[in-house]
Amino acid sequence: MSTERRTRAWIEVHGDDLRRNLERIRASVGEDVGMIPMVKADAYGLGVARAVGALEPVRPLAYGVATVEEGRELRDLGVTRPVLVFTPVPPGLYRAAVEADLTLCLSELAALDRLREAVRTTGVEASFHVEVDTGMGRSGFGWREAGEWGPLVRESVGAGLGLGGCFTHFHSADVAEVGSVRSQWERFQDVLRALGPLPGEALVHACNSAAALRCPEYAADAVRPGIFLYGAVAGEELPAPEPVMAVRARVLFVRDAPPGSTVGYGATHAARGWERWATVGIGYGDGLPRRLGNRGHVLVSGRRAPIVGRISMDVIVVDISEIPGVGVGDVATVVGRDGDQTITLEEVAAWADTINYEILTGFSRRLPRIWIDRGDG
Ligand SMILES: *Cc1c(COP(=O)(O)O)cnc(C)c1O
Repeated sequence: MSTERRTRAWIEVHGDDLRRNLERIRASVGEDVGMIPMVKADAYGLGVARAVGALEPVRPLAYGVATVEEGRELRDLGVTRPVLVFTPVPPGLYRAAVEADLTLCLSELAALDRLREAVRTTGVEASFHVEVDTGMGRSGFGWREAGEWGPLVRESVGAGLGLGGCFTHFHSADVAEVGSVRSQWERFQDVLRALGPLPGEALVHACNSAAALRCPEYAADAVRPGIFLYGAVAGEELPAPEPVMAVRARVLFVRDAPPGSTVGYGATHAARGWERWATVGIGYGDGLPRRLGNRGHVLVSGRRAPIVGRISMDVIVVDISEIPGVGVGDVATVVGRDGDQTITLEEVAAWADTINYEILTGFSRRLPRIWIDRGDG
């Protein structure tokens, strides 16, 4: 709880809320379903070391990352659970992946050849998961051609190479209409039937956060929640998670602006009468979208203060004419709760014409992540 890191702008992260959100996913899908928390992109920008520290007590089945580098970072942190690398790996990185005991997700037979070669040359055994493309279209073996690749994948198992699982990924589990999820699930089931019985330890999985909450009947052996764990709404008509994170920044300067005074690059706002403005120490250099200029709000003293003028790299200016008593050093809330007001990631995303994922993962290194973890589950 160091206060010296709360000097300018920072992100507060509540580890106990992260665990609570995982337990809510577990409550949706049932106790017997394994948890593969996705900790890619530095745990969606919140800091992978502390995220893993918070999640270890609830004993995930494995962790999910996007790159070999991210997997290696988990090993450097001392993580001993399986680590799945979900994005196809560039040809030069198979050896590094095998040496770090990472589980690769494969999309083609050429990848299987590369993995086999890495196992042969390193003498280290490896297991892999087979990704099935049922409509996402960015990676995976084609669902229509399982009769061709299926037998070849099965044949290659053995000699230090194990089939650890088979999975697919839904493209639209975030929308309320579940028709596409059902048809992807049916394609996936067709593939599983074509493959025949998998090794006993192999995991079948499909669900991201939205699917785990909306369609728990497709949970299979394990689910792969990401966004919901970190406090963002996973999709339409889905429950709000515990908030997990807040973004705060200090008021650095306050002044009274006479009528006609302008603010920010391009002078896009002019005071309509006498206005009172506060300069707050956060800008697009911190990952605050520039689209929030003359659109977004922050919370000051538990009330909404509209952003006036464009977002600068390092600061924003907000109108505090209606909020008495604001002084230099006060804390403005950019995302999160202050008093009985809350600004959600979803609200910021709507102002910025994007999705909560991009807002969450977009906050820059300049903001220290300050974890508050009471360890009370
Ligand atoms: C990122 C990712 C997830 C997690 O998705 P959320 O929508 O953040 O829950 C699950 N599976 C795969 C393959 C992913 O890449």
